[in-house]
Amino acid sequence: TKIQIALDGPAGAGKSTIAKQLAAHLDYVYIDTGAMYRAVTLAALEQGIDLEDGQQLGELMTSLDIRLTPGENGQRVFIGEREVTESIRSSEVTNNVSFVAKHAQVRSALVEMQRRLAESGGIVMDGRDIGTVVLPDAELKVFMTATVEERAGRRHRENVARGMESDLEALQAEIALRDKRDSEREVSPLKQAEDAIYLDTTDLTIDQVVLRLTELAEG
Ligand code: C5P
Repeated sequence: TKIQIALDGPAGAGKSTIAKQLAAHLDYVYIDTGAMYRAVTLAALEQGIDLEDGQQLGELMTSLDIRLTPGENGQRVFIGEREVTESIRSSEVTNNVSFVAKHAQVRSALVEMQRRLAESGGIVMDGRDIGTVVLPDAELKVFMTATVEERAGRRHRENVARGMESDLEALQAEIALRDKRDSEREVSPLKQAEDAIYLDTTDLTIDQVVLRLTELAEG
């Protein structure tokens, strides 16, 4: 039988890398919920919406057509016909997404979409509130983390490997700030579900984590 797997944790813990590989191993679908909050943020910035205005963001949600499709390198994201897979990763979106994600009007619309996507099982869903709010009955819940130094270091090495400019200290500050905002918001804060397995990946390789989770999913 195909189960629901909820993977939560702070920014840069490697959730999407792990979730992608785990889903491939199990022949499941990977759903990146952070990408949905990022798509809303991109649209709000483009339309000049005040990110503190929950009501206006709620109105945006009623007209916003977010589509997720599986691609070769993981999930692709569209707003209507327009692909935004790359543009939702910009630093402007990254630095503003926590402000958009704190509004109940935004979250309730996305949570509804996420539950619909997960209905049939056979999914690995990553985010901040999947085990606590979106899929409280998920058969496997994992809370994945690593020290902020390690998370920033991984992102930094990734950037350098891609030939991008990268500032380790700035990355660490950005990640710490986003975690603080995500943990301290009133609606569905980043939090470990009581029945989630806690996994500190600081000293683990990607392969080790994927193997461990594959065993848990199949066990
Ligand atoms: O996972 P990612 O880092 O792309 O998520 C971007 C942001 O979206 C998070 O920092 C958080 O503010 C928000 N988010 C959320 N709930 C989720 C997934 C993401 O609030 N389930």
